[in-house]
Amino acid sequence: MRRKAVFLDRDGTLNVDPGYLADPAQFRLLPGVVAALRRLRGAGYRIFVVSNQSGIARGLFGEEELRRIHERMDAALRRGGVALDGIYYCPHHPTDRCGCRKPSPKMVLDAAREHRVDLKASYFVGDRLTDIEAGRKAGCRTVLVLTGAGGETLETLPPRARPDHVARSLGDASRWILRREAAGGGARPAVRRAARTRRRAAGGR
Ligand SMILES: [Mg+2]
Ligand SMILES: [Zn+2]
Repeated sequence: MRRKAVFLDRDGTLNVDPGYLADPAQFRLLPGVVAALRRLRGAGYRIFVVSNQSGIARGLFGEEELRRIHERMDAALRRGGVALDGIYYCPHHPTDRCGCRKPSPKMVLDAAREHRVDLKASYFVGDRLTDIEAGRKAGCRTVLVLTGAGGETLETLPPRARPDHVARSLGDASRWILRREAAGGGARPAVRRAARTRRRAAGGR
């Protein structure tokens, strides 16, 4: 069976981004996030968080604080009736050249391998160019959300780095994903179009 997934950036996409969130008590889900995840889970999508957390390498917080922040996130989502399938994060500094930090697709590729996800049937949603690049390199469709740094990202987006869709929020992104799937564009639209064209050509002969 083909497993589809939605990979989500964390800060500015799922939760309010105060800049290097270090205090678990400061964790706040953005409006509409629980409903969005419930919608995606209901349609059969696995949900993974894929996050750069260089605050660790910068000494702003430790793995223990990060674990407690993720406990808060899990608890807030569970209260809304949704669970994540996995959380992947990079604790390194941008100058570490670690290989996992977004825009590298490594964390997405790791999640896909560990959970047998079909990346072509999957999406990456985030508020920064690095999210769009990581998703695109992994072979996913990409959605830029205008929450967090999204407005700024949209204004400075290089023409070659266009996401497949721009959404106001994760709620809007989830509705777009489901509409797209309902319209038959869930996976490999170019291949589907080509197949239809060939059938038409064969029928005409
Ligand atoms: Mg972000
Ligand atoms: Zn890393």
